[in-house]
Amino acid sequence: MQQYDTVIIGAGPSGLECAYDLAKAGQQVLVLDKNSDAISNDSSIGHKTCAGGITEKVLDLIPENIYEIGFNNVYINVKGRKTKFFKKSPKITTIDRVKYSQYLIDKAKEAGAEIRTETRVSQIRESSVITDGKEIAFRHLVGADGSLSIVRKYLGLKTEKKGMAFHYLVNKNFSDLEYFLDADLFSTGYAWIFPHDEFTSIGAYADIKDISPQMLKKNFQKWLNKKDIDVSGAQFYAAQIPYDYKGHKFEKIYLAGDAAGFASGLTGEGIYAAIISGKDIAGLILDKGYRTDGIDDLLRTKKAQEYLLNIFRHSGPLKNIEYNIIVSLLKINSTKKVLANILR
Ligand SMILES: Cc1cc2nc3c(=O)[nH]c(=O)nc-3n(C[C@H](O)[C@H](O)[C@H](O)COP(=O)(O)OP(=O)(O)OC[C@H]3O[C@@H](n4cnc5c(N)ncnc54)[C@H](O)[C@@H]3O)c2cc1C
Repeated sequence: MQQYDTVIIGAGPSGLECAYDLAKAGQQVLVLDKNSDAISNDSSIGHKTCAGGITEKVLDLIPENIYEIGFNNVYINVKGRKTKFFKKSPKITTIDRVKYSQYLIDKAKEAGAEIRTETRVSQIRESSVITDGKEIAFRHLVGADGSLSIVRKYLGLKTEKKGMAFHYLVNKNFSDLEYFLDADLFSTGYAWIFPHDEFTSIGAYADIKDISPQMLKKNFQKWLNKKDIDVSGAQFYAAQIPYDYKGHKFEKIYLAGDAAGFASGLTGEGIYAAIISGKDIAGLILDKGYRTDGIDDLLRTKKAQEYLLNIFRHSGPLKNIEYNIIVSLLKINSTKKVLANILR
């Protein structure tokens, strides 16, 4: 039976960042992913159901050649009332997730990690995983296998807190990056328009506790019609975003990124959390005394965001008024910083 220091299930940003740091430190690392690494293939690792928007905090962690469009102006619409936020350096940038994936794969391989694609892990045992009928032994196992993680299931962790996100990839250029808050349509969630170089991601996200996925989809369609956005012929994607964090270290098994529930319940954003948690878990595997400052900071932000989400959740018809207050507070210098820290 083959044996590795660390086996990582999932070649998303959390798994590959973790693999890179471990391989660089000299560990024997194996990354397994059920998808292919062929760029053109629609079931490739890089073809994620993701709007590909990153905020300022992520910019230093992703090379510039992966960026698509940087936006100095970001628009927040609350029930039709549009407010512009301007910053000299781009506040939000869209990225090409296929290119990003290739960059992460190349980086991990160069550091010495072995990556096996089109390899689905079907079973987890105490010290090994089963894939294609073969057994592979590990000293450490990292579940970086996304929103439907089998490692999380193996650990017996339930996922109660989760959001649902839909988007169309529309072959039309929109010039502005916009968020749309409207409690009557999206409850505590929102819709977005994120322009990329060759398409625009137009989608909606909300917590399933606040609005059922069926109702969200129906209301999203209503909103598209009202805005006269034609999505005929556009590809439609849907996926869950779990945010039910219940720990990341379980003896020799670790969870990173979406598998651990590190994504934001308020915004559905998860790329930053995937990178930071993947790196911190590599640190922990290499050194038991490692300080997981990145994860601690993520958890503090998550707590503040879920507090805000709960306020919205329990405000009934006052939600739209609260959204307007938040937008106004984001315009005032003294309150902007505190709120930006929570929403970042
Ligand atoms: C519609 C939508 C829009 C989004 N937009 C944004 C956004 O604009 N900005 C942002 O920051 N975040 C966004 N997100 C969230 C973001 O995409 C995720 O949080 C992020 O990709 C998580 O990274 P990860 O490495 O944890 O998991 P993933 O990127 O999901 O990677 C998991 C990998 O595990 C593999 N895998 C799963 N099971 C197995 C198995 N049994 N065997 C082998 N391999 C397996 C999968 O093939 C996959 O490659 C969005 C999500 C959705 C659904």
